[in-house]
Amino acid sequence: MSWLVHGVLAILMLFVVVTIIRAAFFKEKKHDYPALADENVDETRAIESIAQAIRIPTISYPENDKVDWEEFARFRDFLAERYPLITQNLEREIVADASVLYRWKGANPALDPIAMLSHQDVVPVTPGTEDDWEHPAFSGYNDGNFLWGRGALDMKNHLICVMEAVETLLVEGFVPERDVYLCFGHDEEVVGSENAGALAIAKLLQSRGVCLAGVLDEGGAWLKATVPHVMDAWLAGIGISEKGYADFEIAVNAKGGHSSAPPNHSALGQLAVAIRDVEKHQFKTKLFPFLIQLIENVGRVSSYPVKLLLCNTRLIKPVIRAIMKRIPMAACMVRTTTAATMAQGSPACNVLPQRASAIFNFRMLPGTTIEDVEKHLHKIIRNKEVEINFVKGKEASPFSSTESRAFNTIARLCKQMNDKSIIAPYLVMGGTDACFYEIICESVNRFSPFEVTAELMGTTHATNERIPIATVGKGVAFFKRYLREMASEE
Ligand SMILES: [Zn+2]
Repeated sequence: MSWLVHGVLAILMLFVVVTIIRAAFFKEKKHDYPALADENVDETRAIESIAQAIRIPTISYPENDKVDWEEFARFRDFLAERYPLITQNLEREIVADASVLYRWKGANPALDPIAMLSHQDVVPVTPGTEDDWEHPAFSGYNDGNFLWGRGALDMKNHLICVMEAVETLLVEGFVPERDVYLCFGHDEEVVGSENAGALAIAKLLQSRGVCLAGVLDEGGAWLKATVPHVMDAWLAGIGISEKGYADFEIAVNAKGGHSSAPPNHSALGQLAVAIRDVEKHQFKTKLFPFLIQLIENVGRVSSYPVKLLLCNTRLIKPVIRAIMKRIPMAACMVRTTTAATMAQGSPACNVLPQRASAIFNFRMLPGTTIEDVEKHLHKIIRNKEVEINFVKGKEASPFSSTESRAFNTIARLCKQMNDKSIIAPYLVMGGTDACFYEIICESVNRFSPFEVTAELMGTTHATNERIPIATVGKGVAFFKRYLREMASEE
C-alpha cells in the first residue's frame, strides 16, 4: 500500500514542481513592433469631424416612415465635403434607401478585396431623458477631455476614423493593392431589420462575385482591465463570432370563464409549470478553444499566483466551467442562454385566461441552431398540451479563425498601439452588421480601436455617451496601419 501512496505523492510533487516552473515562464513573447505613433494623423481634425458627424441626428427606427431621411442625406453630403479626396478617388453607391458603399480600387484586380464596416445610424435618446445629459445629445460638445453625444462610441467615432484614415492615405499617395470597400449601413440599430442595409450591400457584392479577404466592423473594444495586485492591462476584445438569437412563444389554451369558479390550475398556472421546466433545464455548457486562449492570455500578464493557476488552464477546464456557469456575465460565454421575458394571461382581474403565453429569448452558442432549441423545448416541457411556437430568430455565426491574417494583423496592431494589450478573442453577445457579410467572407472580425473603460461603454445607447478625445488619433492610426497591411498582397 505504502508504495502506492508514495507513488501518488511523487506524481503530485512532480506536478507541483512542473507547475511552479511553467508559471515562471508563462509570459508573453516579446516582439519589437514599429510604433504606430509614426503614422501621420491630424487628431484635432478627426475630433472635429466626429463632432460634426454627431450633430447630424441620423436616427433609425423600426418604422420606416419615422426615419428622417433628410438627415441621412445631410450626413452623406457632409462626408462628401469633408473628405474631398475620397469623393474624387472612390466610387460611391447608395444602396437600400440610405446605406453607402464606397469602392477604393486596388492596383491588382486579381486580389480579393477587404471591407471596413460601420453604421451611420444611431439610437434615439429615450424620451424624457434629454435633460439628464450633461451636454445635449446631438451637440458634439468637446470639453477638452471628452467629446459628447449620441454616436460618440456607437459608432460615428469608428466611421469617421475610417474616413480620416483613407483620406490621409490618399493625401500620402498610398495606393492599395487590393480593392477596399467602405460599407456604411443605415439601420444597424433596428434589431431584426429584414431589409437591413448591410444585407443589401453584402448581397450586391455577392451578385458581383466579390469574395472578401477580411471584414472589420464594430463589436469589440479596448477595455481597461485593472485588478489590484493581479493585473494592470487593456483587454483588446476582438469579436470572432456572434451568438444566435431566437424568440419562442409557449402557450396554454383553456376554457376560461369567471374567476369565481376556477379549476385547480388555470392556463396561467399550467404555463408557470412549463416555464419552470424550461428554466430548470438549462443548455449544457461548452468551453470553446477561444476561451482557453483568452484565459491563457490573461494569465500571461497576471501576477505570479494567478499565473500558477492559469498556466494549467487546460487541466482545470471543468473548474473554470463550473465557476463561469455560476456568474451570469460569464455564463453567457459558455452556454446557450435561456431567458423568460414576457408573459400574458387574461385581460382582466376576474377573468380566467383562455390562453396564457410567455416568450423565451434564447442566445445560442455557435453550433446550436434554432431547430436545436425547438427540439430542446419539446423534450423538456412535460405537459405535451403546451404549444411551442417559433417567433423570430437568427442563427449564430461561425467562428472566424484566430490564425487568419486579418486576426493576426488586428492583434499585432493592438500590441503596437499599447503593449499592455491582452488579445482577447471573444463571442459577441449582441448583433452587428458584420454577420451579413459571412456569405462573402470567412474572416469577419469585430473590433473598435478605442481605449475606453467599462463605465464609458455603459453610456452607449444610454445617457451621456462620450468618447475620450485622447483615443481618437490612435483610432485613425490603427485604421491607417490596418489598411496599409491588409490592402497589400502579403
Ligand atoms: Zn453599433
